[in-house]
Amino acid sequence: MLSEIVNQGKLVSDEIIISLLSVRLAAGEAKREPGFILDGFPRTIKQAEILEGVTDIDLVVNLKPKEEVLLEKCLGRRICSQCGGNFNVASINMKGENGCPGTVMPPFLPPAHCMSKLIIRSDDTEAVVKERLRIYNEMSQPVEEFYRSRGKLLEFDLPGGIPETWPKLLHALNLDDYEEKQSAAA
Ligand SMILES: [Zn+2]
Repeated sequence: MLSEIVNQGKLVSDEIIISLLSVRLAAGEAKREPGFILDGFPRTIKQAEILEGVTDIDLVVNLKPKEEVLLEKCLGRRICSQCGGNFNVASINMKGENGCPGTVMPPFLPPAHCMSKLIIRSDDTEAVVKERLRIYNEMSQPVEEFYRSRGKLLEFDLPGGIPETWPKLLHALNLDDYEEKQSAAA
């Protein structure tokens, strides 16, 4: 059913997504999994409402990169025309201001044999990326409000790349000592 929908270039309906998700969540519960993380879902109020009827969501983390960083990263995307590998040539090094930390994100460079075969997606232009960001912000705002009104939204401004972000994210989630606990248990 899914391949038929996707092959016709159509979007998979909320009902199908939620029913697949329910099956997976039930299987996790049966196996006594301690929890789950949904990445990039729900994207609409309708999806959020259906999800609310299926399971309890403890927390929604809204990861917010700086818009200029996002733009630069999108414009830095490169694909290898031979092996299809995804890379990013953008090297972000923004100075902090007003006591806020700066943002450093190294590029993700391809191996030497891909270097001469890199191509840019035709829709990775500044105008198109800005329009994508505008549409994303417009679409995500009602969903953010949905969870904000339920006291479940955690706004998290990304301070930089993964090395700076990871400890701060663990701190925001009250998981500071998670890795210590893991190693103590091991
Ligand atoms: Zn390649």
